Amino acid sequence: MLNTLRRIIQEVTTARDLNQALEVIVLRVKKAMAVDVCSVYMTDKVQNENVLMASDGLNDEAVGMVRLKRNQGLIGLVGEREELVNLDDAPMHPRYQYFPESGEERYHAFLGVPIIHHRKLQGVLVVQRHGKKHFSEDEVTFLVTIAAQLAGAIAHAEASGGIDGLRPRSQSAAPLQGQPGAPGVAIGTAVVNFTATNLEVIPDRVADDVKAEVSLFKKAVKDVRKDIQSMLKRMTEVLPAEERALFDAYLLMLEGPGISDEVILRIKQGNWAAGALRDTIAEHMRAFDAMEDDYLRERAEDVRDLGRRILEKLRSQEPPKPKKFPIRTILVGEEITASMLAEVPVKRLAGVVSRRGSQTSHVAILARAMGVSAVMGVDELPVNHIDGRSIIVDGYTGRIFINPSSTVRGEFKHLLREEAELSKELLELRDKPAITPDNVGIPLYINSGLLADVRPSLKSGAEGIGLYRTEFPFMIRDRFPGEDEQCKIYRQVLKAFSPAPVTLRTLDIGGDKMLPYFPIEEDNPFLGWRGIRVSLDHPEIFLVQLRAMLRASVGLSNMNLLLPMINSVAEVDDALRLLRRAHQELIDVGVSINMPHVGVMIEVPSAVYQVRELARRVNFISVGTNDLTQYLLAVDRNNARVADLYDSLHPAVLRALQQTVDGAKDEKTPVSVCGEMAGDPAAAILLLGMGVNSLSMSAANLPRVKWVIRTFTRRKARMLLKEALTFEYAHLVRHFLNAALEDAGLGGLVRAGR
Ligand code: PEP
Ligand code: MG
Repeated sequence: MLNTLRRIIQEVTTARDLNQALEVIVLRVKKAMAVDVCSVYMTDKVQNENVLMASDGLNDEAVGMVRLKRNQGLIGLVGEREELVNLDDAPMHPRYQYFPESGEERYHAFLGVPIIHHRKLQGVLVVQRHGKKHFSEDEVTFLVTIAAQLAGAIAHAEASGGIDGLRPRSQSAAPLQGQPGAPGVAIGTAVVNFTATNLEVIPDRVADDVKAEVSLFKKAVKDVRKDIQSMLKRMTEVLPAEERALFDAYLLMLEGPGISDEVILRIKQGNWAAGALRDTIAEHMRAFDAMEDDYLRERAEDVRDLGRRILEKLRSQEPPKPKKFPIRTILVGEEITASMLAEVPVKRLAGVVSRRGSQTSHVAILARAMGVSAVMGVDELPVNHIDGRSIIVDGYTGRIFINPSSTVRGEFKHLLREEAELSKELLELRDKPAITPDNVGIPLYINSGLLADVRPSLKSGAEGIGLYRTEFPFMIRDRFPGEDEQCKIYRQVLKAFSPAPVTLRTLDIGGDKMLPYFPIEEDNPFLGWRGIRVSLDHPEIFLVQLRAMLRASVGLSNMNLLLPMINSVAEVDDALRLLRRAHQELIDVGVSINMPHVGVMIEVPSAVYQVRELARRVNFISVGTNDLTQYLLAVDRNNARVADLYDSLHPAVLRALQQTVDGAKDEKTPVSVCGEMAGDPAAAILLLGMGVNSLSMSAANLPRVKWVIRTFTRRKARMLLKEALTFEYAHLVRHFLNAALEDAGLGGLVRAGR
């Protein structure tokens, strides 16, 4: 059964569109369960109906025609209860609804299970038999398992090929929901970014020159054929003839009429060569996958491999960079990386949409630093089918609109105008200090990681850099940058802000920040080798970085160093020892530098409980709420599926923060907060109330937070904090703070963050 299940799911996942996915499901499930009927009803949320979308067993004419109101019939019952219904004689049930066109009267046994994705009903999967007998427990569990597994694939197929599948075109304006990644609204053109070797994520693209695409493809096939022939030659000496048959089979597939002709036909129908190849390979894989014979089924993998080889050749023939990006580029992809962002000219980048990731993914953080709106974790993003389409990104609510109607477009243009007005108001605060009405100064710093965002940061009215993530310059290179190279980067940043303080954080790789040239393969990367752990295990890399930082600060006195992911006092002691060593080495060769101020990041729960011991060892504490929230709540900050559970206003997080601030104060060590929470105007009220000394955030959020600091007295913030700490639910804390912002006349901040 497990194999059958796996095969069905794989076939559905690679289906071209929703209809094909549903066809596969009904055919395969009917066969696997030896039933007389298998049907899928999909829920049309706009019409509030369940529609028969595919069936093997009921009359063909009924497909698309049988439509039941959401509460009608046995299908409605399954949907309503969100639980299976297993009947021996369905026509006798009071909720049974008969549709003459379906030919359903012949069947008695009925088993319906809901298809639920992210707590929402997608449809109902039904099997039926002639005989009057309940379905067995094994059959029930099989269908429940398959429905649960298929829910995601169906949701994806619906979005890919069937956004319009269930609804008339005029109603297709429904947005796709993801997570807000970076605030702001952007209207632009989708540019799908994908890694070269992955066939499945190749987008459709119009072939500008059909003839050229055909010859590109022919050339790629020729090159692959050559490669395989030479492999075959090499293998002749080491492999017996029967084992070499695999290579012959590859050649046959290439030389025979099948694959090549079909790809060329698809190119002539308008798709570019890579897109045409993707569809052809998927179709051939499905054909092999459907075979009963295990050996033949395995051949599907050979087809995939062949497809990849051709793709590689195709991509290698692509014209050299720089690529052309539209004026308002919305970068879209399965997983957008920092280097993909860096590829787009800053002026042209308007937005980012990623199928994976969440608000605290580093790409989202980067987007915020650049003032570019982003939506993350759009599970149903039809990556293959949106290249070149018009798209709206609503980074406040986490929605995207593909090919928006003129009404939707008009609405968002209005919002853009409102935003511009708010920014104008905020701009007036730029040169004013961040001081509360009762005279408490809370310096506002910015988080950075790119040289490119230093200038906008200066313009935002920041008093320095509170967190410079040094891993970004490491991520966009193809090897570790050397000491001189690093020194140059750090010095540029230090100089740009001097005499204002700049806090350079030592390398914090691992987790979701991978260096392409230093792969770390782990089952649980966020609990694995990251941050200071890597640095301490590789003193040769750490010392280079420390020396580069120290050298960069020669003649300047504005550098602080920050140690990430500290989990114990031993790590701080070891890091300080290496820092002293690096310092001494430079003194020994005649470089004159002072020891910088050093801080520890509090971002894992153990550090919260040992904050006093840590604070005693350093000059300042900086709380990384992104990781602290992730580790306290056991919610992966990158996983869209659990993103709803990730909330820095969770009462447990608030208590941990209060404890951290109190502990540091007891040691007279200043505390800053540098996680994304610091840039949230509502959360900033609480942090002010807790007694933090400074805040560091994305440049785009700084003016909003300054408005809060200049509006709320610390006394008022303390009172609000006291009340906020009595709530048991994070969303109640949020409502309470939003009300406080509205009362203080800062409703614009709440509305902009809708
Ligand atoms: C944090 O964890 O809050 C933090 C600031 O560090 P990063 O987001 O780079 O992990
Ligand atoms: Mg962190």
